[in-house]
Amino acid sequence: MHLIRKFLTIFIFILNSIIIANEFSWPIDISKENHLITSTFGESRYDHFHAGIDISGDNLPIYPIQEGNILYLDFNSMHTHINRFPSGSGNQIWLDHNNGYWSGYFHLKKFFIPDKKFRISLNESFALTGNTGRSMGAHLHFFILQDYGRKIINPFQILSKEIDENPPIIEYLLFIIPDKENDHITIIVPEEENHIRLTQPRPIYLKVHDPGRIKNTKRMPYKIEYIFKNNKTLEQSSITFDYLENQEEGLKLNGKYKFNHIYHRNYLKLKTFDFTEGKNFITITAYDINQNKSTKKFILNIKKEY
Ligand SMILES: [Zn+2]
Repeated sequence: MHLIRKFLTIFIFILNSIIIANEFSWPIDISKENHLITSTFGESRYDHFHAGIDISGDNLPIYPIQEGNILYLDFNSMHTHINRFPSGSGNQIWLDHNNGYWSGYFHLKKFFIPDKKFRISLNESFALTGNTGRSMGAHLHFFILQDYGRKIINPFQILSKEIDENPPIIEYLLFIIPDKENDHITIIVPEEENHIRLTQPRPIYLKVHDPGRIKNTKRMPYKIEYIFKNNKTLEQSSITFDYLENQEEGLKLNGKYKFNHIYHRNYLKLKTFDFTEGKNFITITAYDINQNKSTKKFILNIKKEY
């Protein structure tokens, strides 16, 4: 009996340390009015995924998401124009949280770490936000890696949610005929009949954004659901932005999809639907991380010429 109790105590102790080891906090207090999340995880950066979260502001003290050791530090404020690895990251610090999680902080202005000190504790501000590297205005870009760098995860998955009641905004669907100079695009507006002539099967793209807490930021929603329906087919699918996995062929969203599978430039690629002559219906629902959602219906009256 005594042994069992002893065993249980040790077990609970270990369980507690595991739970504590996986608690994380924001590097900057996002509940403050002027500390805005201006970019979310998984957004298109034209030819690659945005693999972290951006918080706007100059000279803001940055805290570690959890206590940790310095894994990498590259600071050369005399040469802020130099592009570092990863490209455009500027002055940077990476921390190792001793549980497979790493975190990284880019575009820094200044750091406060004394020589020969390697450990940063939870309530210790170690740097200030700035504008070094490729950055359009002072902000912190930070990211969280899991499994010793194998995955870049959506920080919203392990940090507290922001306070935001504004649902994403679904703008329109479109067909794109790619061109070196300017893509030729056909816009499909919601809630009314769109007459379309198709000369070959083409994928459908979506223009959508999430305004966040204030309405003038254009971020990516967390999840897109779509239902496609005509007199032959009913199909439903979704895209979420959970993690990017480092694989031989590069970063893949949720371990499966390369950038070109998900985006064309800044448009979200849905798929090449099996259209039939006449009316086809596409219903899009977009969610932000707080489950605020909006839905739009699109009617495509298709004339097939193939
Ligand atoms: Zn960023």
